[in-house]
Amino acid sequence: MKVAVVGLDSADWSLLDRWLHHLPHIAQIRRDGVSGPLASTRPPVTIPAWKSYSTGKNPGKLGIFWFAHPDFEEQRLRINLPGGIGGNLWDFIPNSLVVNTPGTFPPRLIDGVLIAGFPCPEGQPFATPESILPQLSGYRVNTRIPPGGPGYPDEAMELISMRFDTFLRFAPRFDFGQVTIFVIDELHHLYGSDSVVLDAWRLIDEGIGRVMAVADNVVLVSDHGSGPLKHFLNVVPALKEIGAFRVRGRPWKGALAVADRLHAISPPGVHRAVERVVPRKVRDAARTRLAPMEHWLASTPDQFRVRVDWTSTAIPLNQGLVYRNPAAARGGPLMSEVETALRGLPSVARVWRRDELYSGPLLKNAPELWVETDAGVEVAARFDDAWITRRPEKGREWIVNHRQHGIYGFLGQDVEPQKLDGAAIYDMCPTILSFYGIPTPATVDGRPLPVLRKTAMGRPT
Ligand SMILES: [Zn+2]
Repeated sequence: MKVAVVGLDSADWSLLDRWLHHLPHIAQIRRDGVSGPLASTRPPVTIPAWKSYSTGKNPGKLGIFWFAHPDFEEQRLRINLPGGIGGNLWDFIPNSLVVNTPGTFPPRLIDGVLIAGFPCPEGQPFATPESILPQLSGYRVNTRIPPGGPGYPDEAMELISMRFDTFLRFAPRFDFGQVTIFVIDELHHLYGSDSVVLDAWRLIDEGIGRVMAVADNVVLVSDHGSGPLKHFLNVVPALKEIGAFRVRGRPWKGALAVADRLHAISPPGVHRAVERVVPRKVRDAARTRLAPMEHWLASTPDQFRVRVDWTSTAIPLNQGLVYRNPAAARGGPLMSEVETALRGLPSVARVWRRDELYSGPLLKNAPELWVETDAGVEVAARFDDAWITRRPEKGREWIVNHRQHGIYGFLGQDVEPQKLDGAAIYDMCPTILSFYGIPTPATVDGRPLPVLRKTAMGRPT
């Protein structure tokens, strides 16, 4: 294998550098290779970030801005399942093995083997070609224990081993490979720098060592960073105050059941067909995984549909995304007033308009605004809560949140050790392609980082 990538969801040098004496392989990459901070997408969240990593394109070209998006026509929240998006590293590099990268369900047919990652519905074919599935008995994409539940750290350790074992079992047959460890993000969120997190990192470091033994070059990459969460910021009260966002009363259970049934018999469409087989379990898994307990999405996607007053000017999601409602009632506040209200909130560093963040044909699907906060402040959209800021409750919810900069590292026979500045997540795809002599595709936003030894450039595989 010429290049093996180990994806490390939410890895951050601020934690890893403290623990390097426990992590000999990461320490070796840090010492002998090329490494540094990696600027992520805005907002720095898993699904768009991994898609931007693998394609080198900004979310405005991919149409993926978060875990989910509001569907204004059907007035509901939809989980994004962006596995079909093309132009990934593994679409360009022949004979590739991809294990557990978030956002790869439904799995694309590639020249090689692709085992999908989160979010992934239970009971669906999670790998391509389908002929590989019998060789994956015992493998599971999803956790059996919800994050934060009793026994979750042990479950996470088992999943980490499962990813490396599966990757290494197939790796010798492939020229490119990527194995991604996703549960570490959840461990960071819930346990910070607790000893269970160090145990997980020791296991990951051991896995990295095993990957180094089968690859000419190893690459570490994270989708975003992570660090201590100081407080939550709830944008809903400010939007309610100016009349830009309204919620309806809590529905009784029966109404939800009827709404579900109506949804189930609505006319089939491609996305809808996919989503019908994405059971509630996955949607709930997405919710659970995104925020322990009730503190994540303001409500489940179905409740979202009945709780939101769909004549509101703006629809807020967690993590600072604010959508303009194209069906807003006339006479409501303007988005510029929404922007001003958000700017006035405590700890808000900047309110970005979408054309300042993204470019491309799918910019039209982007949230109108993104609220960037000071590091350690987690933006929430809690429909029924009047608080504006509050501290996290340890043991009940996240104590760590995402940071704008993740990590990258390169080490191997084709890598020239050096110092680099200003690497961005969009640069990873063209850089990895350069190991194979594959020129940067015209639609890619990044540029190849100059990590290759001169003699290695364009060398045939
Ligand atoms: Zn992530």
